[in-house]
Amino acid sequence: MSQNDQGNVFRRLFPDEREDCAPVILDDAGRWWNRGELETVINRLAGALLDRGIEAGDRVGAKIEKSVYALCLYLATLKIGAVWLPINPGYTKAEVNVLLSDAQPKVLIVAKPEDVEGATCATMASDGSGSLTASGTSRGCDICLVPRGSGDLAAILYTSGTTGSPKGAMITHGNLGYCANALGHAWKVSAEDTLLHVLPMFHAHGLFIAANTMLAFGGRMLFVAKFDAKQVVELLPNVTIFMGVPTLYARMLARERLTRELCRNIRLFTSGSAPLSSELFKEFHLRTGHSILERYGMTETTIIASNPLAGERVPGSVGFALPGLTVRVLRSDGHIAAVDEVAELIVKGPNVFAGYWNLPERTAEEFTPEGYFMTRDLARIDGHGRIWIVGRSKDLIITGGYNVYPREVENSLNEIVEVRDSAVIGVPHPDFGEGVVAVVELNEASASFDGESALRILATSLAKHKVPKLIFVVPSLPRNAMGKVQKGELRKSFANAFAC
Ligand code: AMP
Repeated sequence: MSQNDQGNVFRRLFPDEREDCAPVILDDAGRWWNRGELETVINRLAGALLDRGIEAGDRVGAKIEKSVYALCLYLATLKIGAVWLPINPGYTKAEVNVLLSDAQPKVLIVAKPEDVEGATCATMASDGSGSLTASGTSRGCDICLVPRGSGDLAAILYTSGTTGSPKGAMITHGNLGYCANALGHAWKVSAEDTLLHVLPMFHAHGLFIAANTMLAFGGRMLFVAKFDAKQVVELLPNVTIFMGVPTLYARMLARERLTRELCRNIRLFTSGSAPLSSELFKEFHLRTGHSILERYGMTETTIIASNPLAGERVPGSVGFALPGLTVRVLRSDGHIAAVDEVAELIVKGPNVFAGYWNLPERTAEEFTPEGYFMTRDLARIDGHGRIWIVGRSKDLIITGGYNVYPREVENSLNEIVEVRDSAVIGVPHPDFGEGVVAVVELNEASASFDGESALRILATSLAKHKVPKLIFVVPSLPRNAMGKVQKGELRKSFANAFAC
């Protein structure tokens, strides 16, 4: 095998040496797929892509629901050296067209025929049927692995777009190899493990963190196409690992059936993609006996940090930088921050993407002259090397010249029993420039919530400038598909809160 062959991450995710009869995925319909069966589907799909003239480097767009076939199509794309372009199936036509005109995929795979601009469509339903494979392929049953270097593109993922226009993050084969390896080792994933896979597949969390790590280390997966807390809680006894985002943990906790007994076979619960509140961490521990392992990453950097598997998992901290990465906190004056000082987290290493598609200038702005990627997350690193994410730099509130880190205020708000979750934003204020505003979502049966007394409670633990000037109650905070609160929307809704 040449050096280049080893660069194609397909081989790492789907090693030759595994037994064909090894079970890999249990689908929603209750069917186990073994390695040999998956390989047959991967080769059929790879053949179908080659028949359509897809070559190394071409983008293969996919706006399809999560299924075993969707996973195989992703692997087939990697195998032939093409670039995987997953699109949230919930996107509107207008949203899809923006991505297509930017990424220019040679083919777009959709569940049913769609009217899109700028791409040729083929169909593939969740059971594999559709025009993509309808005419069969004249190619033999084994499709050769196309050599790729570790710096070659494997995927383009458009960043979640909670703000601004979407940018295509170019993820390399090397990025994916690093991520799966680092997590598999850190979390000691093995063929003994079964993951309850409930996350969407169009996002880095479900695809690169969850699916790739299990594939690379020979674990099994129970594939759940759509998260339903009632169903998912009942499946917990069948698995050893669960990976989620904070909202999923909150929804599971809302089910009384979630007990220690139900989690008896689980060895690892992980959380990422959004901050896990200390309250949720503690409540989950009380109910199940498990300390959720929080980890931190982003589309552009796959994975950055993780709490330890064996050591203490500290609520509120995302743990330590993973091996091989250099993580620093950089002040706006260009100096490295002191221990515990809050500034922007920057990272360098094999996890960092190759830049934004078609945006070389924008890409250059996101790197320091020393080659560190600027995450735009505000963080501090404590004396033990633990990383604490404080918020996004664009979320930083400056009120009357004082900095307020929303996460700190949200943590205090979330400790109030009636509050299920909160978001703290800065909105224009005639006197202070920005005024601190809290928007809260209440637990059920909290009709008696008194905003004034909540603010008085905050004043006992927070400096005066950090205490929100106004507090609003909403039925539910606006969130994206990964459960991340969309603060941009809140800033728009409450823009006139202090208007005279
Ligand atoms: P995405 O690119 O959609 O994965 O979003 C990445 C962003 O999510 C990061 O830059 C952080 O702002 C946030 N994020 C991810 N994991 C965590 C975490 N464990 N704690 C706090 N924020 C997180």
